[in-house]
Amino acid sequence: MKIGLDVHGVVDKYPDVFARLTKVLKGKGHEIIIITGRELCTELFDKLDTLGVAYNDVFSITSYHKRIGTHVTYKDGDPTQPLIAPPLWDRTKADFCKQEGVAVHFDDSLVYGKYFEEIDTQYILVNEGIAEVLRLILEGAVTL
Ligand SMILES: [Mg+2]
Repeated sequence: MKIGLDVHGVVDKYPDVFARLTKVLKGKGHEIIIITGRELCTELFDKLDTLGVAYNDVFSITSYHKRIGTHVTYKDGDPTQPLIAPPLWDRTKADFCKQEGVAVHFDDSLVYGKYFEEIDTQYILVNEGIAEVLRLILEGAVTL
């Protein structure tokens, strides 16, 4: 099974949950794909290492659009603040998940969710409640 994970507001907000969850899932042969807006760069990979997340691949909205020739600008020239026309930006994660057959994607953005209604990927809106449920399962408080 392919599992997608956003970074900002998900992996970096609940590293205790997602570091453990990804290690368990990857260890059982599932494919973890980091799906982020941030451009592929050393800082991103260093951050993932620091957070302790296990993954197989990384998809970047920004890097993808630069590769296919979409016009990308940066707010105030800040490389962490890429700007792409919103409808195109907002549906890119869903388009990628559909194309790659991602089964479940964890994200914290309400904006992306509506594009997942059109595809088979289950969109999990991560919040404190979801993080706590996952934490309890990982700690063995909920036996499956
Ligand atoms: Mg996010």
